[in-house]
Order: sequence, then structure tokens, then C-alpha cells
Amino acid sequence: MSQSTGKMKLAVLTSGGDSAGMNAVVRAIVKIGILRGCETWIVREGYEGLVRGNTQAHAIHADLPADASALKCAHRGVPTNLTRNLRFGDGDLLRDGTGDHHHGRTLKGRYIVRVGWDDVRGWFAEGGTLIGTARSAAFRTSEGRLSAAHNLIKEGIDALAVCGGDGSLTGADLFRSEWPSLVSQLLTQGMITEEQAEKHGHLKIVGLVGSIDNDMSMTDLTIGAPTALHRICEAIDNINSTAASHSRAFVLEVMGRHCGWLALLAGVSSGADFIFIPERPPQTIPGGTWEDDMCEAIRGHREAGKRKTIVIVAEGAHDADLQPIRAEYVKEVLTERLGLDTRVTTLGHTQRGGRPCAFDRILPTLQGEEAVKALLEATPDTPSYMIGVRENKITRVPLMEAADAIGAKDFTKAMSMRDPEFYQSLEGFFATSTLFKEKQLPHHRVIRPCTLHLTKYCLILRSMGAPAGGMNAATRAAVRYCIKQGHHPLAVHNGFRGLLDDNIHELSWLGVDAWTSRGGSELGTNRTLPDVDLGAVAARFQEHNFHALLMIGGFEAFNALLILETGRKHYPAFHIPMTHLPATISNNVPMTEFSLGSDTSLNALVDACDSIKQSASASRNRVFVVETQGGKCGYLATMGALATGASIVYTPEQGMNLDTLRQDVKFLKIRYGLDAKGKSEGRMVIRNECASTVYTTDVVTKMFKEEGGNLFDSRSASLGHTLQGGVPSPMDRARAARLSLRCMTFLEEHHDALQKQVGKVKQAPPESAAVITIQGSTIKWVPVQEMVQHADMKNRRGKTAWWGEIKNLVEALAGRPEIL
Ligand code: ATP
Repeated sequence: MSQSTGKMKLAVLTSGGDSAGMNAVVRAIVKIGILRGCETWIVREGYEGLVRGNTQAHAIHADLPADASALKCAHRGVPTNLTRNLRFGDGDLLRDGTGDHHHGRTLKGRYIVRVGWDDVRGWFAEGGTLIGTARSAAFRTSEGRLSAAHNLIKEGIDALAVCGGDGSLTGADLFRSEWPSLVSQLLTQGMITEEQAEKHGHLKIVGLVGSIDNDMSMTDLTIGAPTALHRICEAIDNINSTAASHSRAFVLEVMGRHCGWLALLAGVSSGADFIFIPERPPQTIPGGTWEDDMCEAIRGHREAGKRKTIVIVAEGAHDADLQPIRAEYVKEVLTERLGLDTRVTTLGHTQRGGRPCAFDRILPTLQGEEAVKALLEATPDTPSYMIGVRENKITRVPLMEAADAIGAKDFTKAMSMRDPEFYQSLEGFFATSTLFKEKQLPHHRVIRPCTLHLTKYCLILRSMGAPAGGMNAATRAAVRYCIKQGHHPLAVHNGFRGLLDDNIHELSWLGVDAWTSRGGSELGTNRTLPDVDLGAVAARFQEHNFHALLMIGGFEAFNALLILETGRKHYPAFHIPMTHLPATISNNVPMTEFSLGSDTSLNALVDACDSIKQSASASRNRVFVVETQGGKCGYLATMGALATGASIVYTPEQGMNLDTLRQDVKFLKIRYGLDAKGKSEGRMVIRNECASTVYTTDVVTKMFKEEGGNLFDSRSASLGHTLQGGVPSPMDRARAARLSLRCMTFLEEHHDALQKQVGKVKQAPPESAAVITIQGSTIKWVPVQEMVQHADMKNRRGKTAWWGEIKNLVEALAGRPEIL
């Protein structure tokens, strides 16, 4: 039995179906727990491990390394116990895949295991859960939960973090509510002492939602859902080429028993022809059937010239009478009624697997940090919490409320509590993926009915700067929406340069069909600003009789919009609605939390860093200094560092100087010194290209190499244009469609208002030239003249950065606790 030391003993378990990101949760909880002075444990095999407990006599890692005290002086200012904990663990726990052996020591019969800092090293990049998960029938029984309570008390554990789906969190809530009675039963049965009963009168518990379905109403996103979406879109991208080659139809069944998030987002991101999701049974016109509607829609697409058909069916899809809709049945309908050569692909467990995407590394880390905070702050009078995310902010919801919402199984209600993105994505799907005639649109369609027609032209200008993932998807959505509304979508190739060269043509519904998954920029980009010849630009606007302007691009596009709006004083041609949809890997447009392309680049960075890390680990003791793009904005470097577990990050906002470099060298020396013999690993340093003009990547690399001596070596890698990404990430594609459609309705509304103006020369108000921004989960329009007040025009970024604090977390997770 472990001795009580007075500090919080914190255990983490993963339960239910595995999901990508669970390892990142465990890593974050263990690391932050140690940094906050806790003793950290893992429970293997979910609740089953809790029920079984430890039958072997001693805990793995029960003793600290004998040489720990010798190292403590090296880490000046850091508490001894922390220094010891940083050294604690050897980085290979449970890694041999059997789950039962650990460096010659057996874990057999031990389900509750003490772990240290290095035990969770590198867990980021691994899919599934390395500590095992299970569905435990025993935990559903009161005897099982009594045994679980006994096992926790035996090890002196007083705080528990549970990462799992709805069932697991319901179980956690039940365990929490029963805890006092479990303790008194154990006391009555003589299984624990009075002292133990008193000490463990309250179990601190926290839940994190790990589920690939994104089926929890109290959070915008569940851990693992973004990665599952990646797997689905990769599969559809692969299927697309074979489907087009053979002119086939494919029906894909994807996971989602109660929630159609995966099917919907996959449908939007991959340009599917039809989707079936549980929340919205297919709606038919009176007297019709959904089979008729689906066939008519797909026939329409084929007649328009499509050579392939993709239908996505969520596993929980059903019709209006709640009869299940199965992929095999959809195949029969397509084969028999349309004569299509149709295949069914059930993605099944491939959706769960693989390396977590960037988001499934970032979200679990931020939530893990919050979970430890919640446990440390918990008292018998405070509720137990579920950690969620709302509007890009990490939240706490009382576990009881979360469990109640789950128990009710009221998914319509649950969906209404979700973020607006779901509905906007549904809107996006209908607007961009189908050629429905108006009468066939779903009854509760969210698309605003067309109140006006832009009588002639709508201009789509692909502007400025470097290409970014999602630009093509945004153009495709805008073009398709325009066509549906009866507008004429014109594309300008090569930005303002192309405009002056008259490089303009109209785009067609079919012409943009395959653009969703294409990286780069089909229309080309250019950095020329309109003030190169504002008069000539105005003349082109007039000549082509443009009625509205959409610009997709980075900081230059914002600047261009500002120039055009300011130019309204002199040029009547600019008195049209104009909008800018931010798309830049740098994510440097002010006031928006995300630009199109930033997620794709983060994923490109994570992929590259995973490979580099592997090489760094192979050569052990090597520090890789990785240079990222991003201009004078440190977003990509900072979030990339969080998503890859980098040790140090250099950003333009914070800059670099000799002092910081000296501290960093010292830190690296200490950190390598703390590594167990023969167990050193590669470490990453991420440096934004503009962090310093003096301390360049080359200089820093040489400096580390020189100073590392026998402890570590150093190499550099510049990711350069690879960060502009190949295939856009599903998040960027879905976001592109959603935002692009909002831009189109914005243009329509302002065009409508302008049409109502009487008088000869129309005066567009300043708010009709605006940038679309994401703030929390809300879309906000910011007039360009207002935005300029929040912009640092010299450094081409916003004056404030919402992610600024993350740098501290990155460095704390590398073992620099003084920062916390
Ligand atoms: P997924 O979303 O992948 O299905 P989940 O957490 O919902 O994950 P479940 O099988 O429902 O998966 O639950 C996992 C485990 O949580 C169960 O095997 C059981 O041990 C425990 N559990 C679930 N519901 C309860 C409950 N009502 N009471 C006690 N324990 C429960």
C-alpha cells in the first residue's frame, strides 16, 4: 500500500471506444500534473483496470531513481520533487504493444501504475490509446464500482481523469455520486481503515470527451473526431479517382450512430453528391420518396456531366419513419433505378486509426491542462466537471449536466445546443453539392431564399499573396451558390495583375467540381495591390459591370480591400459590396481566429516534424531547429510547437536575444542531463522565419551545436513552401464552404440595399466593404475601415494574438516549469 505524501495523487484512464488524441490527453495530464506537483498514475484498460486493480505486490516505478538527488542542483529554482519527477520514467512504458511487459518488468496483474515524465514522451504521434481501453461490464455493477473504489484508495489516489465517450462519462458521474456510500461500505466491511475513509471521503473526478463521432452536445468538438474526419476524407479522395475512371457510384458508410457530424463534414469537404445523417432524415415533397429525390438529384449531376457519384451514409441514418437507411440498400436503388455501377465501401475501424491530426494534439493538450486545474481546484462543495470546448475556448461543464444531456438521448435537442457550424455546414452542403430544384429542397433548409438576383455579374477575385489550403474549395462554393441563385460568377486569374490584363472568365458548376480537394490556387495568386493603377482597376470594374467583389487571400487582400474602399471617394465603380475571405497559412489577418489554410499548414508542419523527430530520435541527442513560414506572425510556429511537442519556440512577437538564447542553451543542457543514460531523444526547436534577423536558423543551430558539447548535437530543417500544404485539410475545406457562402449572402444583402437607393450615383456604405472573421464560434463582419485600427500594418499582423499565451504552455510541457 502506498504511503500518503500529502500531494494530489492523480490517475488518468481512457475508456469506451478508442479515439485519436487519447494519448495526448494522457501525456498532457501526466506532464501538467507533475508540473503542478501531483503524483501521476495511469489506469490500464479503462474501468476494467480500475475494477481489477493491482494484484502484484509493488508498483512499477514505486521508487525514484537513486541518482535523482544528484541532479536536483542542476535545475536551479525548480523544486526538488519536480526535478526528480522530470527524471522519473524511462519513456518506454507499455510501448512494446503487449501491454503486459515493461522493460523486462512485468505489468501483469498491475492495472494501476505510477508513471513519470518520460513515460509519456512522444505519445502525441500515436493513434488509439497506449494505456488500453475496454468496455467493462463489471464497472456497471455496484460490486465492480466498490472494487474500483477500493483499488483507488489502496493506492492512495484521490483524483481521477476519465477520457471516453458518453457511456464512460455517465459511468464517471455515477461513480462520483456513489463515492461516499462506496467508502462507507468499504469501511463497514473492514476493507479500509478509518483514516483512509476520512482521507478519501471525496473523489475528485473530471471527464474529457474522447469520441470520434462528435456526438456530445456540451462541447463543440470531441477528441478524435477531427482525425476521423481526416481518415474519411483521405478515403474519399482516393476513391474519387477510381470512381471517375470507371464512371462509378460509391456509397460510403461512415461512423456516427446518433450524430451525423462526420458524414456531413465529409460530404461538404469531399464534394459528395448526397448524404444521409441521423439528425435530418431525407425530406421529400408530398407524395414522393427519398429514393425518388436521391435519384433525381444524382441523375441531374450525371446529366450535367459528372462521371462519378459519391453518397455518404452515416451508420445511424434513418428515414422520416425512423427506418434505418443502409448503404447496401442505397446501392440497390442506384443500381436498379439509375443503372449505375455502384460499390459500397464501409470505412469501419479505419476511421479510428492512424496518427492524430494537428487539432487532435492541440485540443487534448489544452483540455488536459484544464482538467488538471479543475482537479486541483476541486473541493467537496464544487461540482465535478466535464472539460469541453466552446467557441474556441476551453470550458468546464458540470459532469452531472453533461451526463443528463446524454441520458436523455434527445439528439434534436442536443444538436440545437451545438455550435452553429453544424447548421451552416448543412446549408453549405445543399448550396454547393446538389443541383436540387427549389421545390425539392428540404423543408427546413437553412439557405436564405433568394430575394434578389445580381442581374449581371458577381466578381470573384482570387487575390493576393501565397496560396493556402481551402482557397479552391471556397471558390467552388461561391461559384456554385452564384449559379444556383442565377448570378454570373466571374473569376479573375492572377489577382489584380490579371484584372489589368483582362484575364477574366465565367466559371461553371461542373468546371469547379473537383476543386474541393485541390491544394494551391486554381486561379493563381499575385501580390500586386490595386493602387498599382487604381484608375485602371476602376475602369475594369466599370467595363465589366461588376456588381460585387469577393477576394480570397491573406494580408494583401485585406490591404487591397482597404485601398478599394478608400478609393470609393474617387471612383464610383468601387461603390459595390466587397468582401475579403481571409486565406493565409500565416493566420495573420487581424481579428479572425482562423484563416483558411492555417489548419492545412499546421498539419503539414506536424507531418514534417513527426518525420524529423523520428530521424532525431534515431540519432538520439540531436536538437532540430525547424524553420517555419508565417511572416511576422508567430501563429504557425507556436501552434505547430504545441502540436509537435517542441521544446522551444521562437516568434517574431517575442523576438530573440542573447539572454533568451543563453537560457535556452542552459535549459537544453539541463534537460539532456536529466535524460536517463542511453535514453536521450531528439528535441525540436521551432523558429519562425522572421523571429530575428540576427539569430537566424543557421546561427542558432551552430550555437546549439557548439554549446551542446558531449550532451547534444544540432541540425536545422527549413520547411519553407511545404507548409502551404498539398491536399487541403478537411477542416479547411469545410470552413471554406461555410465562410464562402456567408460571403455570398453578405454580397447579396448589400447589393439589395444598394439597389434600393434612389438617385443617380449609388453610395455604398463603409460596412459594405468588410472582412469575414471567426470569433469564437461566431462569424462576424468587420468593416475594413474598422479592421485597420486593429492591424499592425508595419508588421502585417493583428495588434493582439489570441494564441500568445500558448508559447508558455509549449515550454512548460518541455519541462520548463518556472514558466508556469
Ligand atoms: P464510445 O463513444 O466509443 O461508445 P463510450 O464511453 O460511450 O465510448 P461505452 O461502452 O458506452 O463507451 O462505455 C464505456 C464503459 O463505461 C462501459 O463499458 C462501462 O464500463 C462504463 N459505463 C458506461 N455506462 C455506464 C453506466 N451507466 N454506469 C456505469 N458504468 C458505465
